[in-house]
Amino acid sequence: MKIYFLGTGTSQGIPVIGSKHSVCSSTDSRDKRLRVSVWVTTEDASIVIDCGPDFRQQMLTSKCERIDALLFTHEHADHTAGLDDIRPFYFQQGAIPVYAHQRVLTNLAKRFDYIFENENKYPGAPSVHTHEVVNQHAFLVKNTTVVPINALHGNLQVFGYRIQDFVYLTDVKTIEDAEIAKIKNCKVLVINCLREEPHATHFNLEEALHFISLVQPKEAYLTHISHVFGFHEEIQQKLPKNVFVAHDNLVITM
Ligand SMILES: [Zn+2]
Repeated sequence: MKIYFLGTGTSQGIPVIGSKHSVCSSTDSRDKRLRVSVWVTTEDASIVIDCGPDFRQQMLTSKCERIDALLFTHEHADHTAGLDDIRPFYFQQGAIPVYAHQRVLTNLAKRFDYIFENENKYPGAPSVHTHEVVNQHAFLVKNTTVVPINALHGNLQVFGYRIQDFVYLTDVKTIEDAEIAKIKNCKVLVINCLREEPHATHFNLEEALHFISLVQPKEAYLTHISHVFGFHEEIQQKLPKNVFVAHDNLVITM
């Protein structure tokens, strides 16, 4: 399988509009971070997790030409605001299969009513096939099994996903032991790590490294990174040898 990091930045992306912060003017391409998203291709399925405001640019850069499933972690705008740009996929494939918690589907149907409604549709508006994700219920995308992982983003429930030996978790602050047990000893773990300072709804570096030590993946990659975390190169030097800072357009084959 192949993992393509479409975006690795926190909600505002890097550079932040109007920011004079040194990381925002870095010339290292790894310090340019679009909103967080990942594209997973298995033997038979093309799966995109989250669809933030940079979705169009991410699809063009990665040359993703087909989406068999669009999985959502939660409803926050940095993970959902690009949904209208599924239109070119809809024109090619028909209604796009969308997988999310029922709460997230309801939220999206309110914000993107013209996509979710079935009557009096505006010509050219995209359509989706909705699939409710329920914890403890793995589901199939073609022949690829996807296992939901339940966690909390402050008080908000979020889903991460395990696909074979790959685990993607973002916007996590707390996670129960039973959920950690589902992902123990995976090969590649992606986990959110906002910055060094603590945050009310995101792992900071200390919490992310502690979590990685519990899961014991072969390799871990940090994502959902804020500009205040520092330069890519500097963060990398602070990490254990099996932990890496993800960056946009990084590709892992496993
Ligand atoms: Zn987020």
